[in-house]
Amino acid sequence: MSRQSVSVLGSTGSIGLNTLNVIERNLNNFRVVALTANRNVELLAEQCARHDARLAVIADPALEQELVAALERHGANAEVRTGESGLMEAAGMDETDIVMAAIVGAAGLNSTFEAARRGKKILLANKESLVIAGEVFINEARKNHARILPVDSEHNAIFQALPIGFENGLDEAGVDKIVLTASGGPFRTLPTDQFAGVTPAQACDHPNWKMGRKISVDSATLMNKGLEVIEARWLFNARPDQIEVLIHPQSIVHSMVAYRDGSVLAQMGTPDMRTPIAYSLAWPQRIEAGVEPLDLAQMNDLSFEQPDLERFPCLRIAFAAMRTGASAPITLNASNEVAVDAFLQGKIGFTQIHALVSDVMERISVTAVKNLDDVFGQDGLARSAAQQWVAKFYG
Ligand code: NAD
Ligand code: MG
Repeated sequence: MSRQSVSVLGSTGSIGLNTLNVIERNLNNFRVVALTANRNVELLAEQCARHDARLAVIADPALEQELVAALERHGANAEVRTGESGLMEAAGMDETDIVMAAIVGAAGLNSTFEAARRGKKILLANKESLVIAGEVFINEARKNHARILPVDSEHNAIFQALPIGFENGLDEAGVDKIVLTASGGPFRTLPTDQFAGVTPAQACDHPNWKMGRKISVDSATLMNKGLEVIEARWLFNARPDQIEVLIHPQSIVHSMVAYRDGSVLAQMGTPDMRTPIAYSLAWPQRIEAGVEPLDLAQMNDLSFEQPDLERFPCLRIAFAAMRTGASAPITLNASNEVAVDAFLQGKIGFTQIHALVSDVMERISVTAVKNLDDVFGQDGLARSAAQQWVAKFYG
């Protein structure tokens, strides 16, 4: 493997840290060229010094001077950029081979799209950008020969279990359906009358995975699985009726592909994001990831059950948005981002998340989506409707 250069968008987050951890174990194969963060100047500067990055991007322009000072303090030589244009530069740099897209939310779309435009190898963690830009994003990647490798553990598992050439259609590949597993999150068995009182700390305390706060809340509502269903549709060129979800509380089987002949191929492993990160970095080869080996003899229970859509309405709403298509997933994602943010700030309760999303989905009409302007237009509409909902509720 020749040594490849990596830009890590969102390097200070959970996926970003895991990515740098895997890169550090494989410095013969990878080197870091650009790192980006939203506001965490100290950590970004420290990472730039450690990896001798050429470019440091802080999304919040007000922190530019702080970053300059922190880089100097840490003895780092990186050039500084700010804002959206800085993120896009990090994604599109000539010397970058691989872009790890690990910004959270629609805020990652422009930079991830830039990586597609520039034909990079895209390690896609930022599921929200694919959920909202869907076909527009896939077409841009295809046009520029940008390969998308899924980092989300379920999609990475499915990618590992699919045959070469699946992009031409799952039917042709002999696939009956793809089955996304879901842990069920921290409230899988919580009595439903206690949902209204759930706190942000409880919602972020996932039983199997340590992740950023937004995706942790999404995992507690199962909206995360809903977003992943839509993500799977685009990544694997799947029809809505070819995608299913199964609850698997142990998070050992990361997802499965069921074939026409009755075969089911599953990918298993210790729940540790360094496995899918390492796989997507080195694909089609395999590298050391620092992950505990799976000891199946210690596991006396691997169980599977149907998801309860009454208990977790967000999953039902997301399935409906996928089937509706066009701008529906954009409205779903934008209203969910606003709702989760309001929940984390204590402005709305846990059960208001699905109430808000469902109200905004009903209120905003579905329109065609042909380009990024359409995506951002619809995203803006849904966001302001969701913000009004919060303001009305919270006062
Ligand atoms: P996180 O909150 O830990 O990190 C987010 C990163 O994005 C940070 O570096 C932050 O500085 C940056 N960021 C946040 N807002 C930004 C903005 N407005 N502009 C620019 N940068 C911004 O999140 P995470 O858990 O690492 O998740 C990142 C993405 O990966 C999400 O889309 C999530 O759904 C996906 N993902 C995460 C996991 C996981 O295990 N953490 C698993 C699967 C998928
Ligand atoms: Mg996932």
